[in-house]
Amino acid sequence: MRLSRAFLPVLKESPSDAQIVSHKLMLQAGLIRQTSAGIYAWLPLGHRVLQKVEQIVREEQDRIGQEMLMPTIQPADLWKESGRYEAYGPEMLRIEDRHGREMLYGPTNEDMITALFRDDVKSYRDLPRMLYHIQWKFRDEVRPRFGVMRGREFLMKDAYSFDLDEEGAKKSYYRQLLAYLRTFRRMGIKAVPMQADSGPIGGKLSHEFLVLAPTGESEVFYDAAFDEMDLEREGLSYEDDAGLEALFEEVTSHYAATDETHDEARWDAVASADQRTGRGIEVGHIFYFGPKYSEAMGLKVSGKDGDMVTPMMGSYGVGVSRLVGAIIEASHDDNGIIWPEAVAPWKVGLVTMRADDAATVAAAEDLYAKLDAAGAETLYDDRDERGGVKLGGMDLMGLPWQVIIGPRGLKNGVVEVKNRRTGEREELTPEAALAKLT
Ligand code: ATP
Ligand code: MG
Ligand code: MG
Ligand code: MG
Repeated sequence: MRLSRAFLPVLKESPSDAQIVSHKLMLQAGLIRQTSAGIYAWLPLGHRVLQKVEQIVREEQDRIGQEMLMPTIQPADLWKESGRYEAYGPEMLRIEDRHGREMLYGPTNEDMITALFRDDVKSYRDLPRMLYHIQWKFRDEVRPRFGVMRGREFLMKDAYSFDLDEEGAKKSYYRQLLAYLRTFRRMGIKAVPMQADSGPIGGKLSHEFLVLAPTGESEVFYDAAFDEMDLEREGLSYEDDAGLEALFEEVTSHYAATDETHDEARWDAVASADQRTGRGIEVGHIFYFGPKYSEAMGLKVSGKDGDMVTPMMGSYGVGVSRLVGAIIEASHDDNGIIWPEAVAPWKVGLVTMRADDAATVAAAEDLYAKLDAAGAETLYDDRDERGGVKLGGMDLMGLPWQVIIGPRGLKNGVVEVKNRRTGEREELTPEAALAKLT
C-alpha cells in the first residue's frame, strides 16, 4: 500500500477525550472513529488488524468446530421460548419491524443456535457437534467506554457445543480451553484462564481469559504458577482426552480469579511469594451450562437405546474487537503501538527520507516492488513529507519493521532496518534487507 493513496488519517495531537492508552492510540493512529456512543467505524488500518485477529480465532476454531453465520437481528419469540426475553433487561436493543413484530439485535446466540440445531438433528449419531460464528453483537451497555474495549456494537466469536452427556461436554470444554490458550498465544499476548462463576450448574467448567494490563476493568488474583505453566501444549492433539484433561487439571489446580469470584480463604492458602495481583481485561469466556437451553427449547435426540436424550451444551466467546484494544494495552510505548507480528496491519513500513531525491525514490520503488512480490506486506510512505514526520507516523502505527531509505545511506549502498519493538537498527544492502524481511 502506498501511503500517498491511502486513507490513514493520523491525528497530530493525542485525543484528550480518551481515558486509556489503547483508545487514544486507536484514535490517533487512525484505526477507528466513533459514530455513536460505543459504536465505531473501523478505518482501513484498524480493519486490517481486526481481520488478522479474526483469522487467528477462525483458524484455531476450525481445528475443533465448524464455522457458520447467524444473523445480527433475531426474533423476540426465540428468546421468549428460552425464557430469557424479559430477564435480559435493558442491555438488549429491542426493535419493532413495520409489521409490529418484536425483533432484537442479538447480544449472543444460544437461543438461536439451539433452535436451529433442534430443527435438524434427530439422533445421537448427530452428536457431538461444535459450531461457531464470528458476528457483530449489540449490548446497550450502561457505560460504553474505553473505545472498542466496552463498545455497544462489538465483534464476537461465539461457539456452541452439543454433547450427549456431561462426560462428552467436558471434552468439548477442554478442547476449547486449549484452543483459547493457543489462540491468544498466537496473537502475542498472554491471557490467564481464571475460574469464573458457573451459575446454578456449579462445578469448575467456566473460565474467563484475562489479559493483564493496568487499565483492565477487573481486579485479578492469581498464582505465579501461571507464569511458568506450559499453557500451549505444543503437539497435544485435540483427540488426546487424557492430555486435555491433564491440562484442565493443571489449570484448575492453581488459584486464579477476578474480583467477581475471588475467594479470600483460598487466596490465603497461596504462598505469599506466589501471589500475583493486578488488573486484567476479559478477552474470552468459556462456559458449560448443561441442558439449560436444550431443555427449555425442546432439543432432544433419540439415544442408543431409543430413549430421548437432552443434549448438554456449552458456549465459548471471544471478544474479537476488544482484543484489538487489549493487544495495544499490552504492547505499546511512548511513541505508539507495537504490533505483535501475527496481527500487524503490515509487516514492513518503508520510508523515503527525501522524496525529492531521485536515487532515493528509485531505490525505494525497487525494494517496494520486491517486498511486495515476495509477499511481505508493506506500507510504503512515498509522500513528499519531512522524514521525521514519516518516522513518527510509522512508530505510532507500530509496524514491526521499518526500512528507512535516504541519500546518505545509499551513497554507501545501504538502507536502515529498524525493529519497532527493540529499537535495534541495522544498516544493510537493499538485497540483505529484502532477505531479512521475507
Ligand atoms: P464484560 O464482563 O466485560 O461485560 P461479559 O462477561 O458480559 O463481558 P460475555 O458474555 O462473556 O461478556 O461475552 C464474551 C466476550 O465478549 C467477553 O469475554 C468479551 O471479550 C467480549 N465482550 C463482552 N461485552 C463486550 C463489549 N461491550 N464490548 C466489547 N467486547 C465485549
Ligand atoms: Mg457484560
Ligand atoms: Mg464478564
Ligand atoms: Mg463473560
